[in-house]
Amino acid sequence: MNKITLTGRNTQSQIFIGECFSNIKKYLPQKNVFIISDQNLSIIYSDLFSEYSCFKTVPGESSKTLKYITKIYQWLVNNGANRSSFLLGVGGGVVCDITGFIASTFMRGVDFGFIATSLLAQVDASIGGKNGVNLNGLKNLIGTINQPKFVICDTAMLSTLPYEELKNGFAEIIKHALIADTKMFTELEGQTGQLLNRDTDFLNYLVTRSVEIKAEIVQADEDEKNLRRKLNLGHTWGHAVEKVTGLPHGKAVSIGLAFAASLSVFKGKLKIVEENRIRALLEKIGLPVATETDPVIIFNALLSDKKRENDFIHFVFMQGIGNVIIEPVLIKELKQFALK
Ligand code: ADP
Ligand code: ZN
Repeated sequence: MNKITLTGRNTQSQIFIGECFSNIKKYLPQKNVFIISDQNLSIIYSDLFSEYSCFKTVPGESSKTLKYITKIYQWLVNNGANRSSFLLGVGGGVVCDITGFIASTFMRGVDFGFIATSLLAQVDASIGGKNGVNLNGLKNLIGTINQPKFVICDTAMLSTLPYEELKNGFAEIIKHALIADTKMFTELEGQTGQLLNRDTDFLNYLVTRSVEIKAEIVQADEDEKNLRRKLNLGHTWGHAVEKVTGLPHGKAVSIGLAFAASLSVFKGKLKIVEENRIRALLEKIGLPVATETDPVIIFNALLSDKKRENDFIHFVFMQGIGNVIIEPVLIKELKQFALK
């Protein structure tokens, strides 16, 4: 088991990779625990839920609304939750987002932790304390930054995750390699077979490195004033693709990574052979690198990016593989490149 500590502004988060979910009692208070999970997981891992009150959400992004989570606040009240209650989120990115947001706001904040069950949640969504819900289709517009007490990443749970969902996590792992770890990128290229076969040792290694990379960046800049923007690699174009096409997050990010690689080549920061390696790895794993959708429509969606300044956007460029640099790009210039 690997343990990583993330020190946030107010709280410390302990992340355990390779811990078995059935040891969860070790991490929980003796009483007053409430679980939030989704309807898929509560069937597959029913034993885990037998001793606790559990709210089972409808799986998927549609649950991330204020209207839906109001039901969960009400459920907590009806079941006697109070200021000393502990919330445990068991699920993928959606459940982690909802649980973190509810725990941060219910009774002005209660303690919480996660069992992150999807690869995307283990390498990204459960780490870093961002949580939130959508508003009229605008993703994560309402939310807080607040670290969970602990995150359990049990890679054995990934054996039940549908393959298409696993791929979404691979996109974020490749993103982390591109940001900070040339060696991990080369290993991913060389060991695609182990990846696709869900080799536990390889997955534990990849989750550990991803969490280390993300935790280090978040610790240096929890509020995303500067360094944390690195984690948006592939997400400027990726979010716009996601919004327009409805593709799952990881697939949209994969297209965004390919876009960022091309733009980085265009700007003379990345070699064309490196761009080709990035595209080849994404494709080998079965991730998309392009979409049929008209780039004009994607570009228009990008204009409403919540991270956009007036006439420019902070864009994360690749400077070789394993290194990134954040530079402002004029919206005008981005448009020229995207529509060329
Ligand atoms: P993500 O983690 O990609 O942000 P979700 O939280 O919506 O997204 O999870 C994706 C889907 O995978 C959901 O339908 C969820 O129920 C399912 N899921 C998550 N973890 C597991 C698992 N370990 N086994 C089976 N299904 C899972
Ligand atoms: Zn992402």
